[in-house]
Amino acid sequence: MITPLHVCRACDGLITDPDDAVAVAYEEAASGPGWTIWAHRDHVDDVDLIDPVLLRIMTRIWAAHRPAM
Ligand SMILES: [Zn+2]
Repeated sequence: MITPLHVCRACDGLITDPDDAVAVAYEEAASGPGWTIWAHRDHVDDVDLIDPVLLRIMTRIWAAHRPAM
């Protein structure tokens, strides 16, 4: 069985050890299926994920659930 290699989003390096690959996000493609974004286990915190759609949804949820003060 061949394990597909992943590229780390943080450092653009190949993740050669499957145990070192962490799926950090799933990106939708304009056409066809999207793809998973991977990062080295040590680089997960370095991945910049700015998803405007997700941010807008989360902002709406946070605003709706803000406790009354
Ligand atoms: Zn990396």
